[in-house]
Amino acid sequence: MQILEGKAVAAKVLAEVTAGVAALRARTGVQPTLAVILIGEDPPSQIYVRNKKRAADEVGIAARDFLFPAGCSQAELLETIRTINADPSIHGILLQLPLPTGMGEDEAVGAIAPVKDADGLHPANLGNLLVGKPSTVPCTPAGCLEILDFYGVALEGAEAVVVGRSRLVGKPLAQLLLARNATVTMCHTRTRDLAGHCRRADVLCVAAGRPRFITGDMVKEGAVVIDVGVNRLDTGKLAGDVDFDAAAKRARAITPVPGGVGLMTVAMLMKNTLLAASRQLGAA
Ligand code: NAP
Repeated sequence: MQILEGKAVAAKVLAEVTAGVAALRARTGVQPTLAVILIGEDPPSQIYVRNKKRAADEVGIAARDFLFPAGCSQAELLETIRTINADPSIHGILLQLPLPTGMGEDEAVGAIAPVKDADGLHPANLGNLLVGKPSTVPCTPAGCLEILDFYGVALEGAEAVVVGRSRLVGKPLAQLLLARNATVTMCHTRTRDLAGHCRRADVLCVAAGRPRFITGDMVKEGAVVIDVGVNRLDTGKLAGDVDFDAAAKRARAITPVPGGVGLMTVAMLMKNTLLAASRQLGAA
């Protein structure tokens, strides 16, 4: 059984981005710059933002903060996004989600200029993925594909099952797997016989946000398991959506939590920011 560590894959992506940033700067004299918009004091969001800024610093991308208190209005947020859209010195926008209750996420994400949408969540970028001409791909699903490719997992013709259908993970991940000629099944809360679907999967990807709810008997012998879930247990520890120990007895390979997909999300955000800057500077 192989553990699909995200560390080596993220390091490879970050090294490529570092080289790409240096090359872009040498060619254009411009440093790729990412606007980081964070509203409120949600502790996990603050940690994610800190990690993203640290990674940006490591690869040579400048991060510019736009921090707002929880009471910030939707109009204020939209105005900020418009200002950043029009600022040629900023190439990527990270709007940390979730927004505080009562704010309109769809409207805010939709206000981001698609070319600056570092998270790949703008409807235009999701649409491009759907029509088979990916522009900016959402970071977490893109990271899952990087892991599968890095470890040489064959996708063509494989039975791929994705549990979860969010805009952030499940739906784009299913599209990416489909584009690689896997036969994709999407499961959600209304799926009948979830266990039966999971047991057919050569590649089982889980993004449901339910700690360890995929049990060992739901994993096919020899399957590859990608666990996207990050759940904080009462003990304070992190757990994935898959019961790692039980699944590892049957799987051929599995991502750990932490140390798997989570590391990839940040790396892919850096890659997306570099791509966005390259496109805007005519160097893509
Ligand atoms: P989400 O928006 O809450 O979506 C969860 C999806 O899972 C929904 O489509 C839901 O189905 C489905 N689901 C929930 N319980 C289920 C069950 N018992 N059986 C079958 N399907 C079920 O969550 P998300 O944003 O996609 O995130 C999912 C997980 O990934 C979370 O743990 C999150 O923390 C983690 N995550 C990790 C990263 C990372 O960087 N590693 C990034 C993003 C998210 P319905 O549509 O029917 O409700």
